[in-house]
Amino acid sequence: MTKETSKNIDTKPRILIVEDEAAIGLLLTYNLEAEGYQVTHCERGDEAELLLAESVPDLVILDWMLPGVSGLEICRRLRNREETRDLPVIMLTARGEENERVRGLSIGADDYVVKPFSLPELMARIHALLRRAKPERVAGRLQLGDLVLDRETRRVHRAEREVHLGPTEFRLLEHLMEKPGRVYTRGQLLDAVWGLSSEIDERTVDVHIGRLRKLLSRGKEKDPLRTVRGSGYAMDERLGKI
Ligand code: CA
Repeated sequence: MTKETSKNIDTKPRILIVEDEAAIGLLLTYNLEAEGYQVTHCERGDEAELLLAESVPDLVILDWMLPGVSGLEICRRLRNREETRDLPVIMLTARGEENERVRGLSIGADDYVVKPFSLPELMARIHALLRRAKPERVAGRLQLGDLVLDRETRRVHRAEREVHLGPTEFRLLEHLMEKPGRVYTRGQLLDAVWGLSSEIDERTVDVHIGRLRKLLSRGKEKDPLRTVRGSGYAMDERLGKI
């Protein structure tokens, strides 16, 4: 029986930090990684352009004054490129450059933070911007169609209605939602949710899946869980798409 890892790196929201002050870059990287983001940090504007041409992150934190290409110029180019037109951008600037704010926002930055900034304030702005632009990409939050699981508050909502789950159902749903569409055997679910040492009968999984199903779907709501005969269970990855 192979143990499936529950962390999938691809599901982490990706943030690119472009900041030539090493201490600030390090501070942001450390704190964002601790919150579950996948962070890339570079110190030069031209390096950032190469990274952005290679792959588009979920959000960019962009310093105004940079060696190579300026943050302002990078932002302007991002807005002119089809794939990055709507990419959320937060600009950082040193105190005294506040009068540049209008220019920054007119060039298309979504938000603007003046250094020295308060870390909680910047983190809150990042969350707010991501929630606005890409609600499914906020760390700590898993979303599939109208179903939302928040790891931080341990709350689950279906179409705005709060669904009250027991701890086992919560863990089961969290595990399934990490990889929508992926089919898990009962044994794999037992390992992941109850732990390897558990001596629990595989039918226990069926009982909890049944309970989860009942709690998640009300009235004519679509069943978000798939039973795959002979194999096991999966989240229906088409939920909300059809
Ligand atoms: Ca700088």
